[in-house]
Amino acid sequence: MKIVFATNNPNKLSEIKDLVPASIEILSLKEIECFDELPETRDTLEGNALQKAEYVSEKFGISCFSDDTGLLVDALNGEPGVYSARYAGPHNDSEKNMDKLLLNLNDKTNRKAEFKTVIALILNGEKHLFEGNVKGEITTQRQGNGGFGYDPIFKPEGRNETFAEMRKEDKGEIGHRGRAVKKLIAFLSKLPD
Ligand code: IMP
Repeated sequence: MKIVFATNNPNKLSEIKDLVPASIEILSLKEIECFDELPETRDTLEGNALQKAEYVSEKFGISCFSDDTGLLVDALNGEPGVYSARYAGPHNDSEKNMDKLLLNLNDKTNRKAEFKTVIALILNGEKHLFEGNVKGEITTQRQGNGGFGYDPIFKPEGRNETFAEMRKEDKGEIGHRGRAVKKLIAFLSKLPD
């Protein structure tokens, strides 16, 4: 089965390619010659994930899925949430986003947070949603050089290292996107050939 992953984020593409079995071939946007900036203007993770997947599936007439992820911080009433990419300004600048989050949590003792990923799949015109979450806490400073986005300041529950300090396979195993992807794979695997 061939399916497009509608993302312009090479880190996400590589994380997901590592998780799917060989029977599912993941195509990138580049491989279908889609060089567009994908629309992402809704105010929920579900809405954004669907909007991106629908854009590609309608324009290219192909089955595809997309994900949208947010970091929900308890002490900030769930912020930055759906606005995680643009937390510190209109461009997705991870360094500035982390600086702003660390500053906003400066005086807070509760540093609990949760990553949430929603995957929207459009398969033969039908919509399906899959969700993955991981709870953890925001560290007081950056730790590690791996991963991307907020990884250097997110320590998952039960671990003594941030996502940026973990091996990619370990993040895939316990992380939000990995959990959502497993549900997607289980669904795709049950489909008749
Ligand atoms: P989006 O899903 O690409 O819209 O991501 C929203 C924001 O969360 C961006 O700033 C991403 O860099 C960040 N983000 C998405 N997935 C992850 C992740 O797995 N780890 C850390 N940050 C992430």
